[in-house]
Amino acid sequence: MLCPWRCVLEPERVGLCGVRMNRDGELYTLVYGMVSSMAIDPIEKKPLYHFYPGAPIFSISTVGCNFRCPWCQNWTISRASPTKAWLEYVEPQDVVRLMKRYGVPFLAFTYNEPLIWYEYVEEVAKLVKREGGFNVLVTNGFACREPVEELAGYIDAANVDVKAFDPLTYLRVIGGKLEAVLENVKLLREKGVHVETTYLVVPGVNDSEEEFRKMLRWHLDELGPEVPLHISRFFPHYKFIDRPPTPVETLVRFWELARNEGLHYVYVGNVPGHGGEYTYCPQCGKPVIKRFGFEIFEWNLTLDNRCRFCGAQVHIRGARWREGSTAG
Ligand SMILES: [Zn+2]
Repeated sequence: MLCPWRCVLEPERVGLCGVRMNRDGELYTLVYGMVSSMAIDPIEKKPLYHFYPGAPIFSISTVGCNFRCPWCQNWTISRASPTKAWLEYVEPQDVVRLMKRYGVPFLAFTYNEPLIWYEYVEEVAKLVKREGGFNVLVTNGFACREPVEELAGYIDAANVDVKAFDPLTYLRVIGGKLEAVLENVKLLREKGVHVETTYLVVPGVNDSEEEFRKMLRWHLDELGPEVPLHISRFFPHYKFIDRPPTPVETLVRFWELARNEGLHYVYVGNVPGHGGEYTYCPQCGKPVIKRFGFEIFEWNLTLDNRCRFCGAQVHIRGARWREGSTAG
């Protein structure tokens, strides 16, 4: 009941996620605790710009995915088989121990699709909450409603990809269902999860202004102007190595469009040095957080995240992270 695909499996076969197998009529996950990557990243890399800015975040993944985006930048793990890939079993308690050792109270389930190793994510996330830490999902948002609803109780923040705004593109190119993703974005918000969305602009796939405008309309109507939107630059990966990166002009045009439509926090991703990396005050328009790539180099907010120039509240959950700070 986890994945909307509901694959019907012959004995010894895995579903299209590659990580759940029919063994003698019972469904097994092959990736519980099987970790493919572990790293400490800046939280801005997820990307999350409005959740404990500047924090380091412990990040873990397994293999597999229930989508098949032909531009996947992590295809070496998203398409890997759990029986062939080099994976290391890590006890849930050991994730928490490692986080403590490095003094990092934030944990991201990222790099591959976290919802497909649900049981482990939930187990680890519970332990993290028990220790006063914070859990983050970087997800395609494609799972059934009930499991997302349950997991949301342990999740503090999520970045969800809205990869296109055409159901046919989702179905034919990405291998997913737009409607389910949109419903889960709303559900996470309703459950109190801090949500940011990412729209990766892939030339020839989802870069029409009409489609982007539809996405903006939905974002404004269903999420509201204060939910951050990351408009991200595509670079050639996996099966899409024959096309150039997204022209910066397209990204800037979409960025301006989104701001003009009334979104308060719009970002251009993967274009270091562009003003679209800054957070602007929704009231006076002045830059309140200046970033270069994942680095913050100027901070114009008060301790309660108000604009230093005009006093307006800027929608940021949590304080700026400082070396030696404890979150909360
Ligand atoms: Zn201001």
